[in-house]
This record gives sequence, structure tokens and C-alpha cells, in this order.
Amino acid sequence: MKVAIAGAGISGLSCAYVLKSGGIEPVIFEKKGYIGEVFDYAGLRLKIFENGKDIFKKYLKEYGLDDIKPVSKLKKIQMAGPKRKVTVRGRNLGYVYNRGENEYSVEKQIYKRSDFKIQFKKNVDPLTLNGFDYIIDATGRGTTPKKLNIWTSELNTIIKMANILNPVPIDTAKIWFDKKYTNNCFAFLNPYSDSQSRLCLIVDNATKNDMKYYWEKFLTEEKLEFDAVETREMYYEVGMLQKPQYNNILFTGNAGGFTDNFIGFGMLSGMASGILAAKCILNKLDYAIEAKPMLEYVKKINKFRALINTFGREDYDKLLSFLGTPVIKQLIYNNPFFRAVNLTKIAEKAARKKFKK
Ligand SMILES: Cc1cc2nc3c(=O)[nH]c(=O)nc-3n(C[C@H](O)[C@H](O)[C@H](O)COP(=O)(O)OP(=O)(O)OC[C@H]3O[C@@H](n4cnc5c(N)ncnc54)[C@H](O)[C@@H]3O)c2cc1C
Repeated sequence: MKVAIAGAGISGLSCAYVLKSGGIEPVIFEKKGYIGEVFDYAGLRLKIFENGKDIFKKYLKEYGLDDIKPVSKLKKIQMAGPKRKVTVRGRNLGYVYNRGENEYSVEKQIYKRSDFKIQFKKNVDPLTLNGFDYIIDATGRGTTPKKLNIWTSELNTIIKMANILNPVPIDTAKIWFDKKYTNNCFAFLNPYSDSQSRLCLIVDNATKNDMKYYWEKFLTEEKLEFDAVETREMYYEVGMLQKPQYNNILFTGNAGGFTDNFIGFGMLSGMASGILAAKCILNKLDYAIEAKPMLEYVKKINKFRALINTFGREDYDKLLSFLGTPVIKQLIYNNPFFRAVNLTKIAEKAARKKFKK
């Protein structure tokens, strides 16, 4: 069987890994000359938001990709609202993963597991690839689903990033929620090595000019002074597909709507969708049916983000007060049974009953 993969990112490589272990050598096309994002950054996996993600993790476990190494365990999370600040400490609040070009990044770790044959500097159009039984669109973009009219845009976001040299400790992450400078999203600072951190501001539906304003406001309001090596902006569109398969094209990762849009970084969803696409090809399963539970979960998280976006400034403080209550802190961070209660439900309840009164 002949399978082509467009894109050697995390979903494309995960798919290739499983296909190879099932005896199929895919032809992988990558438009860049190398593996990984064009810049290094850290992806967080916060345990507080892990509830429900077994839906992704089970695929990583099934194919032995669940042992990707983080750069560190998180021991401290500082969250700040307009007035309220909450610090949570624990032995293991989550993980920091490297993403990007460097040797320890998630994509490099998957890449090193097999002797993948990648055709670099090949920018391909999944719609015009001929001679393959299946084509995996793992391009990280909705370009092809848009051409096919099967894409609904859910979220348009700008991420402004600064690479900074005076880092927070490798086991610490900071998250800010304040409508004054995020409009309706959030900002975070987290390290990705012993010497460097990334400061990111994420704003939905903003223009380049809005972003300039929000970034300056963010730095001034939070009195953030640092040595920035470089700053950059990334446009990021999240969409949902009517179905993640169109004829013989299977869409994975961001191209298939498998995102994780509340401080999730798309690592688990991207890898899991790539693995599932390969599993469906190998075992002749219906990808659209098998992927349904994952996509339902993505929709739920998108709903949660939409809910957070409706919060007023004072609601963020109330949410932090709620999360910072000693009993709740203890329950959420240290008690797996409590974490099993859906976080969305907590937020919805808090938003309706507690905050709006
Ligand atoms: C700071 C930051 C924060 C983020 N936060 C989130 C988040 O909260 N939630 C989330 O879901 N995601 C987030 N992301 C995006 C995250 O990187 C993706 O979710 C994840 O990488 C998806 O993997 P993928 O395989 O779909 O795409 P990618 O990892 O982007 O890989 C796509 C690959 O395809 C290649 N390619 C593209 N077009 C073609 C073509 N035509 N032909 C050949 N090759 C091609 C690209 O060069 C790239 O290597 C964030 C990214 C950044 C930088």
C-alpha cells in the first residue's frame, strides 16, 4: 500500500511511526529543510487540564509514544488576574516539553525513533498528489479543507512571543488573565531551557495593530522588564471539519481540527490523531467514526475557552479566588478523583452561580 504524508510535524511523524511499525513505508513530504517548528518554545501540560485527555493518551500508550521526555516537571504555577494572584506548589503539577528545532523537542524525539525517509523542501498540495492509496494531510493548516469547503473557522488568534534571557526557574510557569491587555485570552511565561524562557501573549480576533497595543499594555501593566533576544508573531487559525476524511485524504493535527485550545499546546491531540489515522489505514477502520470522541472533546474545550472569553475582568479574579481556596487547591491539584470531575463543569458552575451574582 502507498501512503503519502504532507508535513513532518508532530501529527505527521506520529502517523509515519505507526505506519512503519505496521509495515508501511510512507513517503513524507516536508516543505522546510528540517524537522520541527521554526523556533523553539515550550509546550506545557498542566495536570489540572488533563482531565478527559485519556482520549488522546490511550493512543500514545497503545503505540509506545507515551514516553516522550519532558524537559522538566512543573512544581510551581503562578496565576495572576487583574487584582488576585494565586500560587500553587506541588511535586508534579505538570510538564514542560520542548518544541522546535532543538535535539530534545517532541518532534525530534519522535523523529529519532525510526529511520524516516523524508523529502525535505517539498511543499506539496495534498489534492494533487497522485499514485497513493491514502494521503495524510498533516500540514498544520486548514488550506486543503478550506479548498474543499469542509472547514469551519472556530478561532483566529495571534500569539506574540518574546524569547527572554532572564528566565524563571525551569520548574515554574506563570499565567496571566486580564482583559485589559488580552482582550479575551491569556498570557504565559514558561522556560524551555535553563537559560531561556518564552513570554507569550495570546489574543483572539486581533489585528496586527491591536496586538502592538496589547503587547505594550501587557509589559507596562505587569512591569515586565527583560532582555529579549527576539520577538515574533504567529497567526494561528483553529477550525473544525465536517469530517476528518475526504475520499482518500485523512486530516490530522491542526489540519483535521485536532487542537487543544485552552493552554493545551496541541501536543497530545496532534500525536493522537496521527496515530489514529495510521491505525485506521492499517486495520481498515473508519477514521471519521474512530475520531469522533476526540473531536467531541476538542469541541468541549473550545466551548470552555468561549466561556472564559465571556468573563469580565472581575470574573477572572473570582475564578482565581475560587481556584486559590485552600480546599479547592488541595482537591484540584492533589486529588486525582476530584480532577476526574470535569473542569468545564466547575468553570460553568462557577461562572453561573458564583460569579454572576
Ligand atoms: C506558542 C505556541 C502556542 C501554541 N498553542 C497551541 C494550543 O494551545 N493548542 C493547539 O492545539 N496548538 C497550539 N499550538 C500549535 C501547535 O504547534 C500545534 O497544535 C501542533 O504542532 C500541531 O501539530 P501538526 O502536526 O498539526 O502541525 P505542525 O506541528 O505545525 O506540523 C506541520 C508541518 O507541516 C509542514 N508543512 C506545512 N505545509 C506543508 C505542505 N504544503 N507540504 C509539506 N509540508 C508542509 C510544516 O512545515 C510543518 O513542519 C501552538 C503553537 C505555538 C508556537
